[in-house]
Amino acid sequence: MTAEEFTAGYCERSGITRAEFFAGKVVLPCACAEEGCNGWARVSDDQQDVALHMGMRAPQDITGPALFIPLKTKFYREFERGDKTTEFRPYGPRWNERTCAIGRPVVLSMGYGKGQRLRGVVAAFSASVEPSKSDAWRSCYGDEPQSVACIRIALFDQQP
Ligand SMILES: [Zn+2]
Repeated sequence: MTAEEFTAGYCERSGITRAEFFAGKVVLPCACAEEGCNGWARVSDDQQDVALHMGMRAPQDITGPALFIPLKTKFYREFERGDKTTEFRPYGPRWNERTCAIGRPVVLSMGYGKGQRLRGVVAAFSASVEPSKSDAWRSCYGDEPQSVACIRIALFDQQP
C-alpha cells in the first residue's frame, strides 16, 4: 500500500477531507507489525512524536530513489537540530506532489558535496503562496508571490 492509498482510505473511512487528515498530522512509514498496520501511520506533527516513531517504528530499510535536497549549512544545521522540519521550494516540475510523494526517501545534503548527509522521508506535502511572502523566501527568490512546495521531512536518527 502506498502512502497515498493509506491517506485516501483513511479519509474515506473517517469521512474527512485530505486537509482535515493532515491538520497537525504527518504520515510516516511504519513497521510496528501490530494488527491492522498496513505500513503507514498517521502521527501528530510534533517533533518528539515524530522522532520517536522514526527511531522505533519506522522501517530502516526504505528503498527507492531518494529525493535529493542540497542545503546551505545554516539550514542543514537547523534540520539536524530539529529546529527546521519543512523545506520550501518553488512549486513546479521539480517540486510537486509527485516528486515529493509522501513516504519517498529523502537525502538532505550539506551543499552538493559528498560529506554530510541526513536521511529521512517526506511526511507531508502542501502547496501554498503564503511562504513566498516571508523575508527569507524573498531574499532568495525575489518579491513576486508564487506557489511554494512545503515539504515536511521526518528524519531518521533524530534525538526526541
Ligand atoms: Zn504500524
